[in-house]
Amino acid sequence: MRWQFIPVLFAVALAATGSSVLQPQPVATGSLEKFQQRAEKFHEVVTVPAFETTPVAVAATADRTIATANAALDSIGQLRAGEVNFVNTLRALDDVSYAISLTSDRLGLIEQTSTNAAVRDAATDAIKKLSEWSVGIDYREDVYAAVKAYAATQPLLTGEDKKLFDETLRDYRRAGLDLPKTQRDAVEKLRKELTALETDFENNVTKATKALKFTKAELTGVPVDFLSQQGIQTGPDEYTLKANVTFHYIMVEDNAKLEATRRKMMVAQCNLARTENIPLLQKILVCRDDLAHRLGYANYADYATEVRMVKNAATAIEFEEKLKAGLQPKFDAELAEFRQLKIKETGDANATINVWDWRYFANELKKTKYNVDAEQLRVYFPMNRVLDGLFTIYQRIFGLKFERVEPPYKWVDDLQLYTVADAKTGEPLGLFYLDLFPREGKYNHFAQFGIVEGKRLADGRYQRPVCALVCNFPPPQPDKPSLMSHDEVETIFHEFGHAMHTILTRAKFSRFAGTSVPRDFVEAPSQMLENWPWDKKVLDSFAADYRDPSKKIPPEILNQLKASRLATMGMFYRRQLSFGLMDLALHTQIHATNAEEMLPLANQFLSDVSLPVPPDTAFVAYFGHIIGYGAGYYGYAWADAIAADMATVFEQSPDGFFDKTAGMRMREEIYSVGDSRDINVSIEKFLGRPRSLEPFLEKIGVHKTEAGRPVEKSGQPVGAKTFWHRLWPW
Ligand SMILES: [Zn+2]
Repeated sequence: MRWQFIPVLFAVALAATGSSVLQPQPVATGSLEKFQQRAEKFHEVVTVPAFETTPVAVAATADRTIATANAALDSIGQLRAGEVNFVNTLRALDDVSYAISLTSDRLGLIEQTSTNAAVRDAATDAIKKLSEWSVGIDYREDVYAAVKAYAATQPLLTGEDKKLFDETLRDYRRAGLDLPKTQRDAVEKLRKELTALETDFENNVTKATKALKFTKAELTGVPVDFLSQQGIQTGPDEYTLKANVTFHYIMVEDNAKLEATRRKMMVAQCNLARTENIPLLQKILVCRDDLAHRLGYANYADYATEVRMVKNAATAIEFEEKLKAGLQPKFDAELAEFRQLKIKETGDANATINVWDWRYFANELKKTKYNVDAEQLRVYFPMNRVLDGLFTIYQRIFGLKFERVEPPYKWVDDLQLYTVADAKTGEPLGLFYLDLFPREGKYNHFAQFGIVEGKRLADGRYQRPVCALVCNFPPPQPDKPSLMSHDEVETIFHEFGHAMHTILTRAKFSRFAGTSVPRDFVEAPSQMLENWPWDKKVLDSFAADYRDPSKKIPPEILNQLKASRLATMGMFYRRQLSFGLMDLALHTQIHATNAEEMLPLANQFLSDVSLPVPPDTAFVAYFGHIIGYGAGYYGYAWADAIAADMATVFEQSPDGFFDKTAGMRMREEIYSVGDSRDINVSIEKFLGRPRSLEPFLEKIGVHKTEAGRPVEKSGQPVGAKTFWHRLWPW
């Protein structure tokens, strides 16, 4: 997903290597043509996307898409009251948005993967053009009149059709279309103004840069390997690190022994883009608040959450506040442990843990108490073995068959393409590409990109989906294959889950297909799948030392890794909650008359929920998610909680994480339906019971007796069940 919750790994921009001496690639054995022919028998279509390869072709596609969509919208707008029906209004609109997303998704992938910089730039321009134009679609009065005329017929609809009807009308209302003309125009103007301000904010974040110079002594503790990388040593005793480069930042914060060095780096990062973005963010928040009021909402957070699982701001705040309180004892205990380490290291009995300290002492704790050296694990994760293992598990639990085929067009030489079919019936379900290694100008994390979404076509056939997994596996070296970290293994299990969500869809309308589910749910299935590579049986099914495959991961190493993860869970989630609560506070409390209070309010929430931030910093100015998530960052913990609950279905099944019955239920009740029915219903059908927060609390180490609630003389907490159920207020 482009909307990624997973912590971003070291995204080192390495040059791609074509070398694959020790990486025997699986041979393409399947036939794409036969797969496509078989689809016809199932009344389905499998389309290999036609990728644009020149800037001219990219621009032409965008222009053609706009022209075709405008013509289709004209046809809808010309309908007279007596002519309107479901097909020529609502389904026709879904067709239009499908055609637009086909183009924008494909160009989005090209923008991130093309090996030609001019093509990437052309894709960026084309996407910008498409998105600016698409804001205007909502304001086509003629189209709205046709939809209203159809609504006036009071059609009797059910299921997915009814959901499409209700949500299309809701979209128009949220765009201000049912307001009087002058107010409607004001909303349209505000939305366009917001789009421009938001783009500026995000560009400032991307462009912000700050180089800091250190001496070798100031960087004591930072790995020599890292400091010897090209471009870092800039003088006899001068090292230049950039606060805006995430892995420079983390290397210093995790390892620098000198507190002053850690503080300097943190303060520099928290002031990136400050001058430009503080006034911009004030304007954005005021505009968002104004927009919400004009549309009849108390605040922007209420407007934004209406279409998500959480439904309103109060529920999101209540969830986060209660989780914050529940985590207090664990958070305090972790800070006390960090503090002891600091006292030991500095000899200062009054030492306190500051916001620039926690990463360093969390790392110390991992190294000293848990003896964890994550790098050691790489030998167990050669990329091909991991991919084989992953494919075997996903094929088994979801009842699928993957086959490698030769891609008709490759944007990079080592590109792989796979077909996905139902294992039992042979029904073709879709295609996925694998783009494996880093290279200049390529997207620098791991993500799943939808290219063709599922949809029932006008002729009744079903368009099967196509997606791509864009990865940055460590390139193979002359003496060893691509060796993954455990983090990367977890990430690929996560991202591949999104691919399953995309491919296994059976939703009729593209609006509800694949990962087009509420934003505070979309990560949950993939977050659930992150549990797999923590399971010994799962790991033993593929992980083995590449030098001697009879050697599996020693159980004590895995246990240490688990214990060390749990040891800093309080800190991790309190930090997540500090972002979530800050985001909600800004989107409920800032308006035209108090905009200048934005920065103090943001800093106050960060300080209260996590660790106090220095008053001379403005982290929020560099926090791109405040724009992209817009009152949605709470969704991180929200989806995590659902993920932990969903994982119990597998954990309690006879075959655990290999359980096919649980997997098929996941495929039918979650992936296949997508957003074509209420997501709450889908989750409960998958769970086979109402939701519970307890699996999540257990996972993050929050114990009921630690919640600081009254405890009866018997030692039993009072009303534990009620308390925790209320923690998750639905
Ligand atoms: Zn994701």
